Amino acid sequence: MSKLYWIETWGCQMNDHDSEKMAGILSGLGYDPAREAADADIVLLNTCAIREKAEEKVYQALGNLRAAKQAHPEMIVGVAGCVAQMSGKSVRERSPWVDLVIGPRAASRLPEHIARVQESRGVVDTTLYQDSLLRVAKPVRQSGDRRKAYVTVMEGCNKKCSYCIVPTTRGREDSRTIQSLLEEVSGLAEEGYLEIEFLGQNVNAYRCPETGEGLSDLLRRAGEVAGILRLRFATSHPLHFGSEIIRAMADLPEVSPYMHLPVQSGSTRVLKAMRRGYSRETYLAKVQELREAIPDITLSTDIIVGFPGETEAEFEETMSLVREIRFDQMFSFIFSARPGTAAEMLPDECPAGRKTARLMELQALQRGIQLEKNQALVGQLREVIVESPSRRNPAELAGRTPGNRIVNFRATGAVPGDLLTVSITSAGPNSLRGELVEREEELACSGAD
Ligand code: SF4
Repeated sequence: MSKLYWIETWGCQMNDHDSEKMAGILSGLGYDPAREAADADIVLLNTCAIREKAEEKVYQALGNLRAAKQAHPEMIVGVAGCVAQMSGKSVRERSPWVDLVIGPRAASRLPEHIARVQESRGVVDTTLYQDSLLRVAKPVRQSGDRRKAYVTVMEGCNKKCSYCIVPTTRGREDSRTIQSLLEEVSGLAEEGYLEIEFLGQNVNAYRCPETGEGLSDLLRRAGEVAGILRLRFATSHPLHFGSEIIRAMADLPEVSPYMHLPVQSGSTRVLKAMRRGYSRETYLAKVQELREAIPDITLSTDIIVGFPGETEAEFEETMSLVREIRFDQMFSFIFSARPGTAAEMLPDECPAGRKTARLMELQALQRGIQLEKNQALVGQLREVIVESPSRRNPAELAGRTPGNRIVNFRATGAVPGDLLTVSITSAGPNSLRGELVEREEELACSGAD
């Protein structure tokens, strides 16, 4: 009987893709996916350490696994990802039934670590190996419908944002060669994938170690690969989001008119304390340059409220920046002190309740903006790639526009991966509703949103 694996993933797309690669390694060792964790011979929790809440979720999941481990002692329980890297052996001290703790750059050594655990020795490996998952392992891609594939172009981050744990957990920037990336993209196109998302913690800083080519070159060369309809990339940093990347986005129809550009705060003093390296004005100028080059770009961002020392006036600067830019989408969070980061030591007098209130105010403002912007699309045509049955109504489908908006609509016989045109009939703050458009009308579709 074949051995079974179960991988649970938290956090960013990079973690999702690392889990696909770990699944690739395990299937190479003869493991098959289990239906549920309790049935598995190896359970891997691929973790996120970006906020305290994310870390606590890991220990809750480990608590739930304890009974399964007692019932099935030869089951291997492993913790991978950023909590593994950040906490190392203290994961096993806190949860002694954990056999394996491997950091993101040590996951490529899964085969030898499993062998050591089977010799009943616990393993903790947080080495930042060069030959990490970045270069090894054929992923078992979750999107079985050949709709979209992640391609990691680089790992790590050389920046030192004062609140961020990533440089600690993922190490310094390390880019793959552009040749290996284009080979992977061509292979995916041959397999029928329509959309590629290039991943990196600081993806704008991508630099081919052989040719010195950057992200804009990669986009241009990947745009020439036949069959690839959409190219996306994440996560960007305003300091590295250069004009050459904006020009490539404007020139290439394959590059989706969607940009995720984390700003984090609207106050230049807070941005300085965050060590983001840019000011409110620099960010505004970058957005203006982007919108001049691609007028109907969909722009999303990340914002942290309640950073230590953030005053009411500085929070108001964030609110005014949001009113001025009118983002299409936003991910917003309350500051969470991470161990070993510079911000962890900053004095923080703002009461938790006030921080929560700031987050609520920001999210209410953004919800109103998103609703207005989505309502402005009613009556327009959009090309969507079908993703899945709609979460709200399984009798409907959910498709994604080039601008990264979700449209729910009915389309009998359509399946994930299909490319269709819909007419937008109504809008909510977070998604759109549409009607399938017959072939004739499709030609009128403008494409961006
Ligand atoms: S650029 Fe992003 S990943 Fe890098 S330190 Fe800053 S927030 Fe963290």
